[in-house]
Amino acid sequence: MRRLLAALTLCLSLVCPVALPIRAQQETADQQGLKTQTVYITREGKKYHLDGCRYLRTSKIAISLKDAKAKGFTACKVCHPPD
Ligand SMILES: [Zn+2]
Repeated sequence: MRRLLAALTLCLSLVCPVALPIRAQQETADQQGLKTQTVYITREGKKYHLDGCRYLRTSKIAISLKDAKAKGFTACKVCHPPD
């Protein structure tokens, strides 16, 4: 039992200085941030817009690009959001 503990401690001390797990988590978060783009829809329209588009004067509802497309919204021809 004592031997196992010693082996485990040795293992941990070898892995610890590298601190790889923390780095991996940060990279994953960055990649998700790039994929989730926010666009805006209006209450009545069927288009999604970029922030600042003139069509957003009446109503402006934030939604992810992925969700907007999944709900059948299409890209606005005035502000040219990504599609
Ligand atoms: Zn627009």
